[in-house]
Amino acid sequence: MPTYEYRCRACGKRFELIRPRAARTQPATCPACGAEDSQLLVSACHMRSRSDTGATTRLGGSSCASCRATSCASCSLG
Ligand SMILES: [Zn+2]
Repeated sequence: MPTYEYRCRACGKRFELIRPRAARTQPATCPACGAEDSQLLVSACHMRSRSDTGATTRLGGSSCASCRATSCASCSLG
């Protein structure tokens, strides 16, 4: 299963979870404070979009070719 990185909106801690792709946008519990208000980060999406095009262009860490702005929550590639 792929690893997804999240950031807790309550305390700001970043953490990783191994979970099925279908579950990546579901609430992730922060290991530090227990909050379920977390944001899925984009790192995994970056790697995927890069391999799709074969290019090594960096997109600035804020977006990928297939999803909006700073969130890959709706990215079908993720
Ligand atoms: Zn937290």
